[in-house]
Amino acid sequence: MTFEWGDLFAGRISGMAASEIRELLKLIDRPEIISFAGGIPDPDLFPSAAMARAYEKIFQSNAGAGGALQYTISEGYTPLREWILGYMEGKGVRLGLDEVLVTSGSQQALDFIGKLLIGPGDLVAVTKPTYLGALQAFSPYEPRYVSIAMDDEGPVLADLEAALAARPKFLYLVPDFQNPNGVTVSADRREAIVALCAAAGVAIVEDAAYAELRYDGEALPSLAAIDAARNGGRPATVIHCGSFSKTVVPALRVGWVSAPRDVVNRLVLMKQAADLHTSTINQMVLHDVVSQIFEPHVKRLRVAYKERRDAMLAALDAHMPKGVTWTRPQGGMFVWIELAPGRCGVALLERAIKEANVAFVPGAAFFADRSGANTLRLSFSATKPDRIREGVRRIAGLLETVEA
Ligand code: PMP
Repeated sequence: MTFEWGDLFAGRISGMAASEIRELLKLIDRPEIISFAGGIPDPDLFPSAAMARAYEKIFQSNAGAGGALQYTISEGYTPLREWILGYMEGKGVRLGLDEVLVTSGSQQALDFIGKLLIGPGDLVAVTKPTYLGALQAFSPYEPRYVSIAMDDEGPVLADLEAALAARPKFLYLVPDFQNPNGVTVSADRREAIVALCAAAGVAIVEDAAYAELRYDGEALPSLAAIDAARNGGRPATVIHCGSFSKTVVPALRVGWVSAPRDVVNRLVLMKQAADLHTSTINQMVLHDVVSQIFEPHVKRLRVAYKERRDAMLAALDAHMPKGVTWTRPQGGMFVWIELAPGRCGVALLERAIKEANVAFVPGAAFFADRSGANTLRLSFSATKPDRIREGVRRIAGLLETVEA
């Protein structure tokens, strides 16, 4: 009998396709490459001093250090959950402690939500495009996807209504400066989405990973806040995922999920099974840092990232050839480019790396239905304005030769 690991893999593994662009993106870790591929925060903006002080404080306190290095409860470090409660209340959502679970990044919350809600063949509604990491989290639970088109105000309502008629378990949505296309769902559209989903008995999974990174315009109510306003201030049909990765640092791996108690109770069981709890010391450090500097730090991030967003948009305006369009995000980390129909983002990336030392992510991976071959995601967050201008000029130069 020959031994083949492949014969032993569970059927769900076929839903976990390796990304075809990963091999290409391995080539970009060279200093001469200007990369818009990452979608990561700028490490120069990390609050390193505040974090060092927080670790030091913990190790200097005998009682604290012991507790910080010990196992803790699965729900999360209580003072951090209390901070999250205060933060959410400031946004119009009144939660009890047992309605918040700290997760190892919001990515883990997406996995747990998939595990909780998706059975094989169940329908999940997503936008096109949507966050690739959500597709990766949900797909092992073997859903079918229904994809909803977007315009510059968010999911197109006629498409949403058609999707809801097919009775998905939930709609997954990133309402603010969506990864990958930078689109923000308008206030009216938010109200309509919550009302339509509630009427259809369909849950909403709101991913607010970028919500704090707004560079212009007024903050809009979260879907969780709209849901709460319809239900006496309490969560009802929306599961809300938050993250400290974009506002503090990703490496601590701290995010959260808030939802009605029955949902959180089940998610806590999943947390126990997955990793028992998120790192105690990291939660304590994060709590210390956000208690001290959250608001001023986020303000500083907004100033720096706004300058980069503006540099990218100005460079696109100046250099891009006719037939290319792009979004003008009010925040977040991404600009989304649409090439003329028939153009291929993957082919352009190959040329961009080899001929122009510049990189981005081709957009097709962000579509559950594999459309979008002519799209690109450019991230401006980890690149300084001069390099942004130069990188956009190089991409435009390649397109001049292809698009002509
Ligand atoms: N949601 C979205 C939309 C994201 O872009 C990301 C990170 N790229 C995450 C969730 C996961 O973030 P984390 O696990 O670091 O909180």
